[in-house]
Amino acid sequence: MYYISTRGKAEKVNSAGCIKAGLASDGGLYVPVNIPILDRKEIIAFKNMEYRQIALEILKKFLTDYSEEELKECIGLAYNKNNFKDEKYAPLKKLDNSTFVLELWHGPTCAFKDMALQLMPKLLSKALSKTNDVAETVILVATSGDTGKAALEGFKNVEGIKILVFFPDGGVSQIQKLQMVTQEGSNVGAIAVRGNFDDTQNGVKAIFSDVNFNNALLEKGIKLSSANSINWGRLVPQIVYYVSAYARLLSEGEINEDQPVNFLVPTGNFGNILAAYYAKEMGIPVNKLICASNSNNVLTEFIKTGIYNRKRDFLKTMSPSMDILISSNLERLLFLLSDMDADMTVGCMKDLTEKGLYEVGEKVGEKISSLFYGGWSNEEETEKAIVNTWKDYGYLIDTHTAVGIDVYNKYRNETGDKTKTILASTASPFKFSADVVKALFGIGIASEMDEAGLLLYLSEKCSLPVPDGLAGLDKKHMLHNTVCNIDQMKKYSELFINSCL
Ligand SMILES: *Cc1c(COP(=O)(O)O)cnc(C)c1O
Repeated sequence: MYYISTRGKAEKVNSAGCIKAGLASDGGLYVPVNIPILDRKEIIAFKNMEYRQIALEILKKFLTDYSEEELKECIGLAYNKNNFKDEKYAPLKKLDNSTFVLELWHGPTCAFKDMALQLMPKLLSKALSKTNDVAETVILVATSGDTGKAALEGFKNVEGIKILVFFPDGGVSQIQKLQMVTQEGSNVGAIAVRGNFDDTQNGVKAIFSDVNFNNALLEKGIKLSSANSINWGRLVPQIVYYVSAYARLLSEGEINEDQPVNFLVPTGNFGNILAAYYAKEMGIPVNKLICASNSNNVLTEFIKTGIYNRKRDFLKTMSPSMDILISSNLERLLFLLSDMDADMTVGCMKDLTEKGLYEVGEKVGEKISSLFYGGWSNEEETEKAIVNTWKDYGYLIDTHTAVGIDVYNKYRNETGDKTKTILASTASPFKFSADVVKALFGIGIASEMDEAGLLLYLSEKCSLPVPDGLAGLDKKHMLHNTVCNIDQMKKYSELFINSCL
């Protein structure tokens, strides 16, 4: 299996090469040249496999230049009792006859990013040693909150790799910030940027595509790479849990063989839902992919109209990991749905940069609206979903998952569709405890408490333990206190790289 760039100019690479590179040299994103198919027998066999076995079967199909032994080793290092607090890794909880919550937040940082970011660093490290790459790798990350911490955890103390995370100053929750600025490890850094997530992401992309800068680093034996969901190594582990969730519904007798499900995904950068699309294309029977957005509802509009228009105010919401106006991974979808038309993809991306909007043609637009349903929730609706889910089911959800629940209700009312639906629950409610406490118990109570107090309050009121990764954060040392302007990101990357040398 080899990988090609969505912009058509970069050379094709194998999977190790594509995980090492992150972004392709022409600024595009790598995609596998074809999508491997799971036949019916294989899917049925997953019924009796545990998570790690399913992961091996899926990875084998995409990462063909890794040996089975190498993949097993990486999977074992990622998915184990130390890292994940649930032995099923991604357990499925039934809320009602058609709603199943796929809990993706049992990893070290309590958000779904761990599912991929525990595995991807191991795959990258293997890729470097397999290809005798002597260059040191520096990972640069732009984060809306959860990726940053999950990447720091996944890469800390990994030999031959350093990691620097940029996050929007004031654009992440207090817990997310604390998680990042207290990160320990000999090879890690975190810097706040005076800008929003899109500014931060654009800043990192500009560094990646600065040819002179990259050449100068190469002379010192240093290569830049990415741990954002633009890296294929992030996407492939995410396909696994959609396949696994489908297999669980089969084995629990909730669905018959061939019976389709819906996948419902609270979406920001379009990485998680793209993985669901890949699962569908591999052969998992899927009726609709439901894309849930918050008030930054660019994607909702795009799915309805085929017009992607980022020219609008960037809104800060209580689901900050979805506060995104430029969903990078959409580029992969455009490329795939246009039958791998790089010119068309380049045209759209150019329009996005120059005009702030693009329009996909009728053909691609029709494909998108038949595959996807897009919906969004405002702040009030998000809060209500937290309250109602707790009242109706005694089940506590975070703000991002709440957007999913609300959009699902809208979808069911609008379409009457009764297809069983798997909702990707993307964060532990404790990770966004301030807004969860506010929704359930009122702003008065929430505003009286600091982060540690909020965690304890939520824990007591809902009789749930505070997750290990979040307890005691306030007592840790603040190790990373730098704040920089958008135009200083390159300079600070240099400083970080030099100080670590
Ligand atoms: C990253 C994140 C999302 C958005 O996922 P994308 O892959 O960027 O679409 C949603 N919820 C939470 C909690 C996240 O951390």
